[in-house]
Amino acid sequence: MDSNQFREVGKQMVDYIADYYDNIRQRPVMHNVSPGYLPPLLPDSAPEDPERWEDIFKDIEKVIMPGVTHWRSPRFHGYYAAGGSFPSMLGDMLCNAIGCIGFSWATSPACTELEMVTTDWLGKMLGLPEHFLHSHSGLGGGVIQSTASETVFLCVLAARNRMVARMKETDPDMNDHSVISRFVCYSSDQANSSVHRSGLLAEVRMRKLQSDDNFSLRGETLRKAIKEDKAKGLIPFFVCATLGTTGSCAFDSIKEIGPLCEKEGIWLHIDAAYAGSAFVCPEYRQHLEGVEYAETFSTNPHKWMLCNFDLSVMWIKNRQYLVDAFNVDPIYLKHQNEGRVPDYRHWQIPLGRRFRALKLWFVLRCYGVKGIQQYIRTHVSLAEELEALLVKDGRFEMPVPATMALVCFRLKGTNKLSEMLHDHIMACGDIYIIPAYARAQGKDVYFMRVAMVSEHMTSADIEVTFRAIQRSADRVQERYADLPQTEKNGVKDDYMPLINNDACPADFKKQRNEKA
Ligand code: PLP
Repeated sequence: MDSNQFREVGKQMVDYIADYYDNIRQRPVMHNVSPGYLPPLLPDSAPEDPERWEDIFKDIEKVIMPGVTHWRSPRFHGYYAAGGSFPSMLGDMLCNAIGCIGFSWATSPACTELEMVTTDWLGKMLGLPEHFLHSHSGLGGGVIQSTASETVFLCVLAARNRMVARMKETDPDMNDHSVISRFVCYSSDQANSSVHRSGLLAEVRMRKLQSDDNFSLRGETLRKAIKEDKAKGLIPFFVCATLGTTGSCAFDSIKEIGPLCEKEGIWLHIDAAYAGSAFVCPEYRQHLEGVEYAETFSTNPHKWMLCNFDLSVMWIKNRQYLVDAFNVDPIYLKHQNEGRVPDYRHWQIPLGRRFRALKLWFVLRCYGVKGIQQYIRTHVSLAEELEALLVKDGRFEMPVPATMALVCFRLKGTNKLSEMLHDHIMACGDIYIIPAYARAQGKDVYFMRVAMVSEHMTSADIEVTFRAIQRSADRVQERYADLPQTEKNGVKDDYMPLINNDACPADFKKQRNEKA
């Protein structure tokens, strides 16, 4: 393909993408295929001779789209958003065109320096402490990682190294391996599964601590765990606190956890993968109280800030803990300006890195702080609209109030009833939602989560989502009534108490009351 043909078919592709977005509501949100659907549609081997672009292009609708779940659809409410926007896509396009691999400053200074500027911009927008900024006189700064999970893993490794180095100061002959076998880190039982996995990958104990009735990890729980573990000869070295948990968007109390970590010399990492974007709005920053104790903080603009995957930003207070921990410097990676600017290869696990700052730059400039605030606030108010509709219906209850742009709900009654509702909704395929479990009031509560994702979602879309839930609830209640008692999870219909407003975090309750 030469540049002339690229001009022509590139425009065709842009049109295709614009049409895809304009008409996305007409596509069923769920794919409609079974495992193994794709290979029979394609030859067994790659073509020997070049194929015509027209033929390849036709196969997008024929082969690919039937097997696509439309994450950008206003009917998609699963997980947390896969963010995106046209400016971000243009950033990715330019990144691919430039094609630099910016592992060091010298390999493309713009790649490193734009990343420093945009992560500083974002840090300021979110109200993070100045020590996280490159422009500050300290050793802090931001870096774009691929994912929040990769960031946690990296932080566990850096914290592990820091603790080993500290212990070696008093005992230089210490055996690293035997001491690491006594290391322990903590998170709440609501932390993302990737946190637990980081412990497995780094071969350290990762203890999940019980969250409170608001699904929040509290300082007292951590204090007790540290005390218990130290009494057993273990060495606490890392805590991952979550601001905006995956299940129900709960917030760990970092103002209680932070001072404990400081006192014990524990590395505090804050995972704000989803909710971090909301801190662009000052009214949500109360959750940041205590952030100054964190060694690292991460959030995903690829979730809720209009950037396409992958773009997860991590800020660190003292970069030396990364640079010193993993410094391997062969001759071919050296350059004359080393030490004067970051070489981001030291701040991440892979060597290669894309010019991802371009898409963040385009997004921040095209929307501005005000545009992003507006986007976040619209999603939050759409979530509240849906919550109000569900409450008004009378058959549903909320394990927690709508928080940020996430609505958690269940049918009043047994878990089985809500499980059936979820199965029915997914079988209908009009909307896409996922379930979650949380332990509340001593019981495992099954509920469903509705996350607001699409940039162009409106109240009319919320109405469609609500109607889909209602229709399924009608059907499921009829079927449930006919089930023999033994199939109703073996428990009575009144097994689950209605979780009332007293269980709601006080600040959300206040906010909601003020609105009312
Ligand atoms: N942390 C939290 C709180 C999340 O909700 C998620 C995913 O939803 C993750 C981490 C994982 O994010 P990533 O896909 O960027 O690794």
